[in-house]
Amino acid sequence: MKYFIYCRKSSEEGNRQAQSLDTQQRILLDYVDQQKLEVVDIIKESKSARTDQNRPLFTNMLERVERGEANAVLVVHTDRLARNLIDAGHVIKLIENRILKEVRTPTSVFNDAPSLMYMGFDFVFASHYSRDLAIKVKAGNESKLLKGEYPSYAPIGYVNIMNGKGIEPDPIRAPFITRAFELFSSGEYSIKTLTKKLYEEGFRSRSGKKEYTSQIHRMLINPEYYGVIRRKGQLYVGKHKPLISKAIFDQVQNIIFDRSRPRKQKHNFVFRDFLICEECGCKVTAGIAKGKYIYYRCTNGKGSCKQHKIYWDTDHIKDEFQQFFSQFELDPERANISFDLYKTKKLAESKQDNNSHLAIEQQIKNLDIRLKKLEDMYLDGRISAERFDERKTDYQNELAQLQVIIKQKVKQDIAHTLELVEEVKNNAVQLSYLFKNGNDEIRRSLIKSVLWNSNFLDGEITSTRLTKLWKPLENLNQTHDLEKWRRDRDSNPG
Ligand SMILES: [Zn+2]
Repeated sequence: MKYFIYCRKSSEEGNRQAQSLDTQQRILLDYVDQQKLEVVDIIKESKSARTDQNRPLFTNMLERVERGEANAVLVVHTDRLARNLIDAGHVIKLIENRILKEVRTPTSVFNDAPSLMYMGFDFVFASHYSRDLAIKVKAGNESKLLKGEYPSYAPIGYVNIMNGKGIEPDPIRAPFITRAFELFSSGEYSIKTLTKKLYEEGFRSRSGKKEYTSQIHRMLINPEYYGVIRRKGQLYVGKHKPLISKAIFDQVQNIIFDRSRPRKQKHNFVFRDFLICEECGCKVTAGIAKGKYIYYRCTNGKGSCKQHKIYWDTDHIKDEFQQFFSQFELDPERANISFDLYKTKKLAESKQDNNSHLAIEQQIKNLDIRLKKLEDMYLDGRISAERFDERKTDYQNELAQLQVIIKQKVKQDIAHTLELVEEVKNNAVQLSYLFKNGNDEIRRSLIKSVLWNSNFLDGEITSTRLTKLWKPLENLNQTHDLEKWRRDRDSNPG
């Protein structure tokens, strides 16, 4: 096997988040030494991978793989390879076609059909992380918010802390806030009756009066009570103590949303917004004929589309989507095998991560030794003062980064990732069941979750574009070697 070593550091990761290019290279070269791997080239990229076509060296590396210069890639973590799904798709294709034989990290090897699945999931979460990162970068100058400190006057139920840093629960009013959410989430109160009830129980405004219903309404839709800070529509993680759980907040939002929805909307165009006419590229819209029949057809925005004259009823469109979901949904055995394997590997990886702490500690020691040697060389006059300063700064930067890495917690992240992946898996095996038996709302949200939009021609869905979350699963069912999957599972006693 011939390896490319690929190191990447993006500008928005800052100095503290990820290992420097040199550190990545050193970790990988140490690993290569241990494992006696053949390395063809070391590729170091320092651009952002968040947007497409922004990594010439990465693209170039994949081209070189296609030309046969190497057939494996070594990285410190799979997130180095794909912060967006375009790249991931490319990598997965190459593995599928056996042009790329493996992607390796010091803790995992991805080389077979089930691995595509975990790699896919890793990519998905890398891309989610990437999105979170984008949000953080955007907010980079709002440092107070990033520190989680409440930036202004406390909402009711909290008081500002005297020295000006943040907010804390108001001992008198905070219990009423919790109580208000609990009462309202029962569904038995309107905002008006809730306001009355709270007043009876002793809740008063800051000026000692009965709160206005508008104030209570504002309170019930304020996410800050579950621990975030909201500024200009953006949510930040707050440092203040939550008064309610996110779950109860969501429940209350559902109730408020349901009640405020206009009741008289008679016609429910379930499948509007999801289809594009393939002939002319316009949207497929819905309308009513003879006051009761719902039909779908091309909007004919450009004025010359023949599809515009053809009408399709709701059941027809529904069948089309039903067919898509039946084809797209995952075979349960495959999904379970791959999930079990993924879990086993992830847990092993987390153990390895603990071990790699030891390795990093060793690296820190090595750096200390190098630093001493450097000093000796300088004192002996073998290197110049400039050179000494330069190298010393390098070493110290690296040391600082290693110390940050040591501090990072891994275990929690893995539990969380496993949870998310299991949820995706559980949905993925019953998409057509959910679509068939769900109500219109469920159908809409399924389509929305899985598909960006679909082309529609002569009454058929001719092609689809998957959303980021589902993209990695696209080709999974086309892998036929289920026997091998079973063997892989059985040889991996989890
Ligand atoms: Zn059209």
